[in-house]
Amino acid sequence: MIKISLPDTATKVIKILKENGFECWAVGGCIRDLLLSRDTKGWDFTTNAAPEEIQKIFLDSFYDNKFGTVGIALKNLKKQFPNLEINDENEIYEITTFRSEKGYSDRRHPDKVTWGKTIEEDLKRRDFTINAIAVTLKNDQYVISDQFGGQDDLEKKIIRAVGDPHERFSEDALRLMRAIRFASQLGFTISEQTINAIKQNAKLIQNISWERIRDELLKILGSSYPYEGFVFLKNTNLLKEILPELEACFGIEQKSPGRHHLYDVGTHSFLSLKNCPSSDPITRLATLLHDIGKVKQWKKLPSGTITFYNHEVVGARMVKTIADRLSLSNEQKDKLWTLVRWHQFSVDEHQTDSAIRRFIKRVGVQRIGDMIDLRIGDRLGGGLQTATSWRLKLYMKKISDVQKHTPSVKDLKVNGRDVMKVLNIKPGPKVGEILGELFKEILKDPTKNEKDYLLGRILSLFPEN
Ligand code: ATP
Ligand code: MG
Repeated sequence: MIKISLPDTATKVIKILKENGFECWAVGGCIRDLLLSRDTKGWDFTTNAAPEEIQKIFLDSFYDNKFGTVGIALKNLKKQFPNLEINDENEIYEITTFRSEKGYSDRRHPDKVTWGKTIEEDLKRRDFTINAIAVTLKNDQYVISDQFGGQDDLEKKIIRAVGDPHERFSEDALRLMRAIRFASQLGFTISEQTINAIKQNAKLIQNISWERIRDELLKILGSSYPYEGFVFLKNTNLLKEILPELEACFGIEQKSPGRHHLYDVGTHSFLSLKNCPSSDPITRLATLLHDIGKVKQWKKLPSGTITFYNHEVVGARMVKTIADRLSLSNEQKDKLWTLVRWHQFSVDEHQTDSAIRRFIKRVGVQRIGDMIDLRIGDRLGGGLQTATSWRLKLYMKKISDVQKHTPSVKDLKVNGRDVMKVLNIKPGPKVGEILGELFKEILKDPTKNEKDYLLGRILSLFPEN
């Protein structure tokens, strides 16, 4: 028997309910993560006590009618049970009465939720075997309920639906995405029966709101195995449903005489994601979608060379549509657009400082690192052997030099002599004052640091001279 031990506070909650004559089990993600020795992200309990009964026991609890869940803030639990040692005062435990669900005609919400009588009934309605393990206390010993072989699947690293997978996915199509999300987060495979059922039910994802799809998609992107997650999405036909623009990239040839590209656009996109060193979901998404405009811009010249002229402009427009569809936040939208729009940046060693400044301004200082990560993914995902070229390294150094350089009046493209000449004045404090005004202007907008513009500005700023 596997030894398992729950934290003191979780054990206390189970004990309190038991002392009041009820059953209580810790269940779901917390038990899965505990058995995997992963950090747990919140404790959920299930009990045969009705919500009103739970609330009578835990004085400062709150009842969320929509989900049928009673929440207990640990800081309130501490007030009621002062001897309790609590790690995180902000944590909230959720207790839900045993449930059994019947019928899912909208493929999302059960038509009828009734209180279940046993833990077995409650575990039966859960999505995957690894999420259907519960732990309670009997005679001061921890006892595990695991009727679907969840521990075995944890050991074998397999995601497997509870019961008949077809039924489970047609009841609630969000589970299609959840299966792949857990596989990507945990580095698990998906059982053959379950994967086949996902494939056959992929179209049902259309019943799920884009916000929920986005949440799962961002979790896949932010996981330890995002590339493997997207391979699952593609192989199960879910990619076609949620990102048809990316699906369309597969089979788009880009091999040209004398060019380094080895793969079609879709394969290259997936491999870029695989090689992107960033762990940020939006940077990874941008890396995955950076060449999405190539489908529309594909052209084969008589010489046999394939071109994708302006694909970054078209691609940026396309990711805007995708970002709207997924209801990304404004900041996420802006970042995605920026990274795709400017991903073709040149690292030519002959670029001037002002060209580099323009690039920094377009991309934004805080996103330069993400842009470089996209380029590294792009290079490695295109079959190049090294993450950076000497040009890219030199370019990165120049970017940091340009950023380190503190601009001063000396950087102005006009000097004191120019001021005296234009205004026909003698040396004196006025000259410095005028240069100071011009300097303030170019600090706000460095593109204004052009000699002709500044000479004109001297006159219009100080017409009385
Ligand atoms: P996470 O680490 O993302 O919180 P989790 O397993 O805790 O993972 P939750 O969405 O918090 O996932 O759900 C808690 C538990 O509720 C799951 O472990 C599972 O037992 C059950 N569950 C959640 N969503 C579903 C669903 N759509 N269908 C069936 N059971 C579900
Ligand atoms: Mg959870």
